[in-house]
Amino acid sequence: MKILVVNAGSSSLKYQLFGLESEKRSVLANGLCERIGIDGSNLKHETEDGRVYNVEVEMSDHTVAVKLVIDALLSADHGVLSSLSEVDAVGHRVVHGGEKFANSVIIDEEVKEAIKECYPLAPLHNPANMMGIEACEKAMPGIIQVAVFDTAFHQTLPSKAYMYALPYELYEKHAIRRYGFHGTSHAFVSEKAMQLMDDPNAKIITCHLGNGSSIAAIDAGKSIDTSMGMTPLAGVPMGTRCGDIDPAVVTYLLEHENLTPAEVDNLMNKESGFFGISGVSSDCRDLQAAADEGNPRAELTLRMFGYHCSKYIGAYTAALGGLDAIVFTAGIGENTPRLREDILGKLGYLGIELDKELNYGKIGDYQLISAENSKVKVYVIRTNEELKIAQETAALKV
Ligand code: ADP
Repeated sequence: MKILVVNAGSSSLKYQLFGLESEKRSVLANGLCERIGIDGSNLKHETEDGRVYNVEVEMSDHTVAVKLVIDALLSADHGVLSSLSEVDAVGHRVVHGGEKFANSVIIDEEVKEAIKECYPLAPLHNPANMMGIEACEKAMPGIIQVAVFDTAFHQTLPSKAYMYALPYELYEKHAIRRYGFHGTSHAFVSEKAMQLMDDPNAKIITCHLGNGSSIAAIDAGKSIDTSMGMTPLAGVPMGTRCGDIDPAVVTYLLEHENLTPAEVDNLMNKESGFFGISGVSSDCRDLQAAADEGNPRAELTLRMFGYHCSKYIGAYTAALGGLDAIVFTAGIGENTPRLREDILGKLGYLGIELDKELNYGKIGDYQLISAENSKVKVYVIRTNEELKIAQETAALKV
């Protein structure tokens, strides 16, 4: 089966063409269209056997971008398909499914309407995702399109976890509540951990720590709480997002910094987090290098990040009523043993003990890094959201 996975942003479109056989799975080709609708748009395309095609060509919109992607996939030179009919289905990443989608779905007019109804909840992401969907519908009529939502996995949160203590009418009127994100990743790594432990009832805390970070509490495969909220701004400090703050800071800034709502939104989403605290960078590698050179604000940033992650693990152990495993994933979670050590350092009382050598050793697709006598298992598991989208899409196509 061949599944095309599409992740459309407002000016970009990433894709991977998966070959999913029962025994074997592979990425036949992958690529990226950048600067769609802006000067200097370009396509970078690469095949499994290492053929590369980079071209700078005008892409006025996502429809043009999808046409170029299809041409690249069909090309005699750097293509991997002889006909478009070889593509069994297309899976689209959609950021916000609101309360409407607890699972992936085949896209039809009704689903598109529901995705549009979620625009106010994700005004930057959902319209961009929709452009990708509509461009593929035009370019590949008759091929099944599937939507896979970042929020879907967290629709199992109980109301006591997803409600905010605001007037109830606001929930009814605007659907203001916690939704949570990175669901595809939390689902992928927690399923892998349950497999490794051979325990479908395991209580697991998954830490997706990347440029955006979120932590989730998962009980027997169901998400019961997660750190991001109505939007991805909540939770631990991130690359440029502030994470949890006293909500009164927002009104204070509006008043005392004379900012507009859009400016406060930008400040909290784009100028805060690692970047805002350190003044150095939003990238964890730069922060580690600066901290090593003695930069106190870079050091503070890393300490804050570790501290907030530890607090979430403590809180979610309480929410789960116990803990069997912790999983680290995404750019930071997979690659920074020092931070993993820092995050877990104070949690020995929960029965968590790292194996130092394993923690600092080589990590393949997955690795157990806890000591043999640790009551709680600790894993590093490489996330693969695109593969999960392909699998979800394939499951609906059958
Ligand atoms: P995104 O949320 O954009 O998908 P990623 O999951 O790729 O982000 O994570 C990006 C973050 O991971 C950056 O802060 C980056 O510094 C960090 N990171 C990636 N690779 C490494 C590494 N080898 N060592 C330390 N940090 C890393």
